[in-house]
Amino acid sequence: METTIQPSPQTHSRMDASPNGHQDTGHESPTRLVGRDLLSRVQATAGLARANADAVDRESRFPEEAFAAAREHRLLGMMVPVVLGGEGARVSDVADVCYTLARACASTAMIFAMHQIMVAILVRHGQGSQWHLELLRRLADEQLLLASSTTEGQGGGDLRVSSCAVEPDSFGITLTKSATVISYGAQADAVVTTARRSIDAAPSDQVIVAFTKDNYQLEPIRTWDTLGMRGTCSSGFTLRGRGVPEQVLPEHFQTIQSRTMMPVAHLTWSSVWCGVAAEAVERSRRCVRAAARQTAGGQSTAGVTHLTRAIMSLGVLTNTIKSALQKFESACAAEKEIDSLDFQNAMNLLKVTASEMATSVVVGAMQASGLNGYRNDGEFSVARHLRDVMSSSIMINNDRILANSGAASLLANIPASLEG
Ligand SMILES: Cc1cc2nc3c(=O)[nH]c(=O)nc-3n(C[C@H](O)[C@H](O)[C@H](O)COP(=O)(O)OP(=O)(O)OC[C@H]3O[C@@H](n4cnc5c(N)ncnc54)[C@H](O)[C@@H]3O)c2cc1C
Repeated sequence: METTIQPSPQTHSRMDASPNGHQDTGHESPTRLVGRDLLSRVQATAGLARANADAVDRESRFPEEAFAAAREHRLLGMMVPVVLGGEGARVSDVADVCYTLARACASTAMIFAMHQIMVAILVRHGQGSQWHLELLRRLADEQLLLASSTTEGQGGGDLRVSSCAVEPDSFGITLTKSATVISYGAQADAVVTTARRSIDAAPSDQVIVAFTKDNYQLEPIRTWDTLGMRGTCSSGFTLRGRGVPEQVLPEHFQTIQSRTMMPVAHLTWSSVWCGVAAEAVERSRRCVRAAARQTAGGQSTAGVTHLTRAIMSLGVLTNTIKSALQKFESACAAEKEIDSLDFQNAMNLLKVTASEMATSVVVGAMQASGLNGYRNDGEFSVARHLRDVMSSSIMINNDRILANSGAASLLANIPASLEG
């Protein structure tokens, strides 16, 4: 059974892949079924996300219409291997979907990204575990939505320590976590959480445990009323899980985090923020064009300089993400490369670069449109985009990432030529 995430030969939009969507792998059953109709399925989902984006933001509610569509179009299981009922999509396929959804509604796209990070973990690290393979099969079949719980107590974005522990009981295992933030916790069908391996384990001796809805309870401890990303409904809960020992992924969390969770999170999140920035630029371009039409002789307005800068930065951001996706997919095939300092540093810093650039692009778009962009209403408003993209620097704080990358930067390879 082939269940690894396959490296991609090239990274471009795979929404327009081969006509029948099958890649001839030479195997009896195809490993990828991501086809031409992905584009129309994603567009249909994005249409509903766009139609409800303002209400989702205003009411700080889960984007249920978009996720009903995502389920109908079977997008939640797109990365599940074909042999388990999915489409065997790659991380770059998912990144494309994140970008398209983000142009419509940032919260929808971020929920989709967070779900797919958990899927990527199960696909890559659950191979030796029948329990997790069965969960993936169910996920593809029932279009289950997976949430993630790493943030605990006052620990903020420090993923590498847990306070809660997997404890034995007469049934199997239990876990109680003060989960300060679980996006769409109330709407998810399963939660994938970090914890110490056992009650005697050190805070950094962590594992990942998956619980399906029938074996955990959530008691609300904190609401979610934030500046942006309001539709992610990232409230806090006391998470009480009870299951069997097989629900613990066999590999150590450190390996899962460095090889899959961190890179896939940073690639998909960056794609979301890039999509938000692209939408803001599109709106401001329409605004600047409309203003030019009103001037004598159709002269460009002052905003065009800001717009040009925003478009230029958006291009750099897009290329940065594309190149990081290529790097990730080629590294997937080689453990040595994925564990290397260079690769880890590049993936870590992608998050900081993308969040800073996306925020500056949206600010530039607003500046280009002036009051029309700053307003909460009207077709040129980028107010929601600005509030949403502001979450990027604190979603695992950039300061934390930069501080953690300090040592690696001292050892980093400075290229001697443009060829590297
Ligand atoms: C939209 C959104 C959705 C989220 N969804 C989830 C979810 O589903 N599940 C989940 O578990 N969590 C989730 N989170 C939480 C996220 O994973 C982080 O825990 C959170 O963003 C950390 O925020 P923070 O800046 O308050 O905390 P910290 O990272 O703890 O930072 C707090 C302060 O300390 C400073 N700081 C921290 N470390 C250092 C350092 N090493 N050097 C210098 N300064 C430092 C920072 O600058 C900051 O001022 C979500 C967050 C957002 C924004």
